Amino acid sequence: MITHDLVVVGAGLAGLRAAKEAKKSIDDVAIISKVHPLRSHSVAAQGGINAALGGTDSPDAHIRDTIKGSDYLADQDGVEILCRDAPGAVLELDRLGALFSRTESGKIAQRPFGGAGFPRTCYSADKTGHMLLHTLFEQVIKDGIEIYREWYVTSLIMWGGKCRGVVALDIKSGELHTITARAVVLATGGYGRVYSRSTNALINTGDGIAIAYRAGSPLKDMEFVQFHPTTLFGTNILITEGARGEGGYLVNRHGERFMKRYAPGQMELAPRDIVARAIVTELKEGRGYGKGSEDGYVHLDLRHLGAEKIKERLPQIREIAMNFAGIDPITEPIPVQPGQHYSMGGIATDTSGATSIEGLYAAGECACVSVHGANRLGGNSLLDTLVFGKIAGAAAAKYASKMPMPAPGDGNDNNNALQNDKSRIDAILKGVDGGEGGEGGGDGGEDGGVRLSVIVQKMRQTMLSNVGIFRTREGLENAVKDIKKLKDMYRNISIDDRDRVFNTELVQALELGCMLDLAHTIAAGALAREESRGSHYRLDFPKRDDRTWLKHTMAYFTKDGPGLEYEDVRITKYRPDGRVY
Ligand SMILES: Cc1cc2nc3c(=O)[nH]c(=O)nc-3n(C[C@H](O)[C@H](O)[C@H](O)COP(=O)(O)OP(=O)(O)OC[C@H]3O[C@@H](n4cnc5c(N)ncnc54)[C@H](O)[C@@H]3O)c2cc1C
Repeated sequence: MITHDLVVVGAGLAGLRAAKEAKKSIDDVAIISKVHPLRSHSVAAQGGINAALGGTDSPDAHIRDTIKGSDYLADQDGVEILCRDAPGAVLELDRLGALFSRTESGKIAQRPFGGAGFPRTCYSADKTGHMLLHTLFEQVIKDGIEIYREWYVTSLIMWGGKCRGVVALDIKSGELHTITARAVVLATGGYGRVYSRSTNALINTGDGIAIAYRAGSPLKDMEFVQFHPTTLFGTNILITEGARGEGGYLVNRHGERFMKRYAPGQMELAPRDIVARAIVTELKEGRGYGKGSEDGYVHLDLRHLGAEKIKERLPQIREIAMNFAGIDPITEPIPVQPGQHYSMGGIATDTSGATSIEGLYAAGECACVSVHGANRLGGNSLLDTLVFGKIAGAAAAKYASKMPMPAPGDGNDNNNALQNDKSRIDAILKGVDGGEGGEGGGDGGEDGGVRLSVIVQKMRQTMLSNVGIFRTREGLENAVKDIKKLKDMYRNISIDDRDRVFNTELVQALELGCMLDLAHTIAAGALAREESRGSHYRLDFPKRDDRTWLKHTMAYFTKDGPGLEYEDVRITKYRPDGRVY
C-alpha cells in the first residue's frame, strides 16, 4: 500500500497550483495524473486569463461582468474572491517566469474578451495555457513533488464517511493500488467528451466528477454546458475568442455582421451563450453555409486585421486553420460552428474548495464553486484554476496536517474500494459470456458484447442533438431515455484488448462509465429546469424565471440515476437584473 499526506488527482493548472500551495505547509504531497502533466487539457488554452490589472479597470467591474455573464446564477462570495485574487494570481505567474505578451511600455498586454467591459484578458499570443502549464510544471519539479504519471484513479477510499485516499490503476503494469492519504484534492478537469463536437482533449471524460458523485458528493448545476461559438468546421478545434478580441468579424452567407441583430452593443464580443445561439439561429434561418443548423457554419473573418497582427497575436490560429482546413486566415475567412467547450457544473464545493465529503477537496473545471453560474466568461477559467487551486491546496493541507494517517486495515471500506474496482476491471477484461447484448448487426464485439465505440457515438449524438444549445422537453426526455438504455448496454461491453499491460482500451471503458453517469445528470438537470438561463436555453420556456429557478441544481447519486435537490444562490450585493449586451 502506498501512502502520502496529501494526494492531488490531476496535473492541469488547478492540480499543479494546489500541490504547490500544499507543499508549503506539508512535506509529503503527491500528484496522480492519467497522462503526462504537460498533456493535461490546460495546455490547450489559447486566448488568455482575466485580471483587472489597473488603469480604469477594477476588480469590482470584473465581479459585475462575471455575475452578469453568469446570468446571476454564480455564487457571489466566490466571484468576489475570484476577481479580487486575480491580479495577484497573474502577477505571481509572471514572477515565476511565465512569458506574457507585453505592451510597448513593457506592461502585461491585455485584450478584450466576451462579456467584459474592459480589455482584461492577459495572454501569451494565443498559447496562454501552454505557457502557464509549463511554468507551473517547472515549479512542481523544483519543489520535489512526486508525480504518478499515467496512473488512472478509479475511485475514492472512504473511511467512516471521510475520504482517505484513492484507488488507482498503474496503466503501464495494469496493477491496481490503494493510495491512502490524510486528504485528497480532485483537479481532474471537465467532461467535454460526453458530447460530439467538442473542443476538449480526448482525456476530458469527467472521471473525477463521476468518482466524487458515486462516493456521495452532490454535483452542482450540471445542466449548464458551455458551447463555444467558434470551433473550426470539420474538426471542432477551438478558434479562440481572442480572434474576435483582436477585432475579428462573424459574417453570414450574405456577408452581413449578423451579431448586430442579437447584441448590438457588444457585437462579436457578447458572452458565448448569446453568440452561439446567434450562429445557430442564422444557420436555422438559412443564412449560413453548409447543411443548415445541423451541420452548417458561418465565417470568422480576420482579413482586415492584416498579416502582421495575425502573425503576431494569433499565430496558432493561423496554423490550425492552415493545417486542418487548408485556409490561410490572412487571405480567407475561417469556417466556424459552435462546439461543446466547458463544464460550468461539477463537484459542489464551498469557497475553500471543500466538498460535502470530509477530507475531499476539488478545484478547477471539475469543481463548481460556483463562480461561472449559467455561463462562464472567456478567460475566467484559467483564473479559476489558479485562484481556487491555490485555495483548495492550502485548505486541504491544513486539514491533512491535523488528521491521523489511515493505517492498514483501518475501516473495512479501504479494502472494499480496491476489491470493487478489481471486480469491475476483471469483468470488463473477461467480456460477456453467452453472446448477449449487441445492438443488432455490426454493433457487437467478438464475444457478443457491445463495442465501446457504439455506446460512445450514441451518447455523444443524443447529447448534441437533445441537450445542446437549444433544448425542449421532448428532446430532453429522449436523451434521458437514450442514456438509460446506453447504461444498460454498458453492462455488456466488450473490448478487444484483454491484456493488463498498458491497456488503453480498458481505460476508455472506465472513462465511458464515468461519462454515462455525468450525461445522465446533465440531461436530468436540464429536463427539470423549466426556464432559460445562460447556456441552458429551453425553446418551451424561453424566459429566465428568477422566482422559481434562481437556484442551484444539486444532483445526488442513486442507483437509478440522479436525485435532484435545489439550493439557494449566494447573493452578496448584486441583485439579479436584465442581461442586455
Ligand atoms: C481548447 C481550449 C482552450 C481554452 N482556452 C481557454 C482560455 O483561453 N482561457 C480560459 O480561461 N480558459 C480556457 N479554456 C478552459 C480551461 O483551459 C480549462 O477549464 C482549464 O485549463 C482546466 O484546468 P484543470 O486543471 O481544471 O483541468 P485539466 O487541465 O483538464 O487537467 C485535468 C487533469 O486531471 C487528470 N485526470 C483526469 N482524470 C483522471 C483520473 N481518472 N486519474 C488520474 N488523473 C486524472 C488529467 O490527467 C489532467 O492532468 C480552454 C479550454 C479548451 C478545451
